[in-house]
Amino acid sequence: MDYESIKRYGLDHLNVDLNKTYEVFNPTNNNHTIHLYLNKDLGITCPRCNGTNIKNVGTKNIKIKYASALEDNIDIIWHRRQYICYDCEKPAYFQEPSPFNTSNFNVSIQKEMKILFEFKSETATYVNVNII
Ligand SMILES: [Zn+2]
Repeated sequence: MDYESIKRYGLDHLNVDLNKTYEVFNPTNNNHTIHLYLNKDLGITCPRCNGTNIKNVGTKNIKIKYASALEDNIDIIWHRRQYICYDCEKPAYFQEPSPFNTSNFNVSIQKEMKILFEFKSETATYVNVNII
C-alpha cells in the first residue's frame, strides 16, 4: 500500500509497514478492509518489568472498526505482534501497544468521534445513525 493511501485514511501518524500492508475493497457493501502491519518498534519493553529480554512469538489478527474523514466503513485487520518476556519471574506474554485506543476496545477513537458527532443532532436515533 502506498504512502498516499495511508495518508488519505489518516493513518500516516502510525509507523506503517508499507510493503506488507494491503487493502481489500468490497463493492457490494462499500466496505474497505485494510490489513495493517506496523514496523517493529525496537524500543519496546515488557509492560510488567520493563525488561528488554523479549522475543516476538508471532501475530494475532485484531479487527478494529475505523473511520477516516471521507469513509465510514473501514475495517482494519491489525496483525498485532505478540511477545514473550524472559526477564519476568515466569515467562510472560504481552502484546504490541495499541495506537488506536487507550484500552483493548475494538473501536478506534476516530470512529467513536464520528458516532458521537452524529448523535449531536436532536433527531438522531440508533436507527438513523447508520455508521455504527
Ligand atoms: Zn517482563
